[in-house]
Amino acid sequence: MIPNTFDYARAGSVSEAVSLLQQHGDDAKLLAGGHSLIPAMKLRLSAPALLIDVTGIDALKEISASDGRLHLGALVTHRQVEHSDVVRAKCRVLSQAAALIGDPQVRNRGTIGGSLAHADPSADYPALVLALNAQIEATGPNGSRTIAGEDFFTGLFETALEEGEVITKVSFPVLGEGEAAAYQKFANAASRYALVGVAAWVKMSGGTAEAVRLGVTGAAPSAFRATSAEQALQGGPLDEDTIADAVRDLADPNELMSDLGGSASYRAHLCEVMAKRALLKAAKHAG
Ligand SMILES: Cc1cc2nc3c(=O)[nH]c(=O)nc-3n(C[C@H](O)[C@H](O)[C@H](O)COP(=O)(O)OP(=O)(O)OC[C@H]3O[C@@H](n4cnc5c(N)ncnc54)[C@H](O)[C@@H]3O)c2cc1C
Repeated sequence: MIPNTFDYARAGSVSEAVSLLQQHGDDAKLLAGGHSLIPAMKLRLSAPALLIDVTGIDALKEISASDGRLHLGALVTHRQVEHSDVVRAKCRVLSQAAALIGDPQVRNRGTIGGSLAHADPSADYPALVLALNAQIEATGPNGSRTIAGEDFFTGLFETALEEGEVITKVSFPVLGEGEAAAYQKFANAASRYALVGVAAWVKMSGGTAEAVRLGVTGAAPSAFRATSAEQALQGGPLDEDTIADAVRDLADPNELMSDLGGSASYRAHLCEVMAKRALLKAAKHAG
C-alpha cells in the first residue's frame, strides 16, 4: 500500500517540534523510528498532512543514571536499550524485554518514546512502565511536565499526552536492595508483539514480599496493573503455591481482547501463566 501524500519537516530541537505541532495541529505527526506510524500510513489508517522528523534531535538520544533513576531519551532505540551497559547495570529487565521486541530491523529503528506515544495494546514497554513505576517527561506549548506511568495509558492507542506534547524522556527507578523484576511474554508468532506480556517487580525482605507490582500488556485494550494479585501476594512468601493462588483469575475475560491471535479466555489463561513465571523469576533474583 502507498500512503497519502504528505509534507516533511525536520525539527532541530524539541521546541521546534513543539512549535510545528502547534502550527499544524491534528494535521501533523511526529516521526521517530517510523515502525508504527509508517505501516499505519501505508494502510491509510493514518493520513497526516505533515510529518515532523525528530530523529535529528540529539538531546533525545541520551542514556544516563542519576538520583536513583535510569533516564532514557525518547529516541533511544530498542536495540540501544537491549545492549546498553548502563541499562543492564541499573535495570536489567528493560534490556531483556527490549531483546524480545519484533525483529532486529524493528529494534534498530523503533524508539521507546514512539512506542509509548503510540500505546499499542500489544506493545511490551507499557507492562514495564507500570510494574517499574516509570515516569514519562513531556514538553508541550505550556512547558514540561512529568506524567506518572500509571496515569499514562488511558485507552486503546490513547495516552495522557496533550495536544502538541512531545515525549522527551522516560525514567525508571534503579532497582535497589531486595528488589528484582522480570518480564515474560507469549509472543504472536508472526509479529512478535505480545499476545500477553507480564512484568513483575518485587521487593523482598527476609523471605517475605514487602511489595509487588504487576504490569500486564497485550491482554486488554490498554496495559493495566493486576492489583488484586499484587495485594494477595503482599506480606507473604513468593513460593509456587502462593503465587499460583494469587494469580488465579488475574484478569476477567469479559474485559480482554479477542482476535485472530487468541480469544479473551485464552488471553486470561496466558495472564495467569505469564504472571506466575514472571513472579517466580523475580522472586528468585530478589533472593
Ligand atoms: C513487524 C513489527 C513488529 C513489531 N513488534 C513489536 C513487539 O514485539 N513489541 C513492541 O513493543 N513493539 C513492536 N513493534 C512496534 C515497534 O516497537 C515500533 O517501533 C514502536 O511501537 C513505535 O516506535 P517508533 O519509534 O517506530 O515510532 P513511530 O512509528 O515513529 O511513531 C509512533 C507514534 O508515536 C508518535 N511519536 C513518536 N515519537 C514521539 C515522541 N517523542 N513524543 C510524542 N509522540 C511521539 C508518532 O507521532 C506516532 O503517532 C513492531 C513493529 C513492527 C513493524
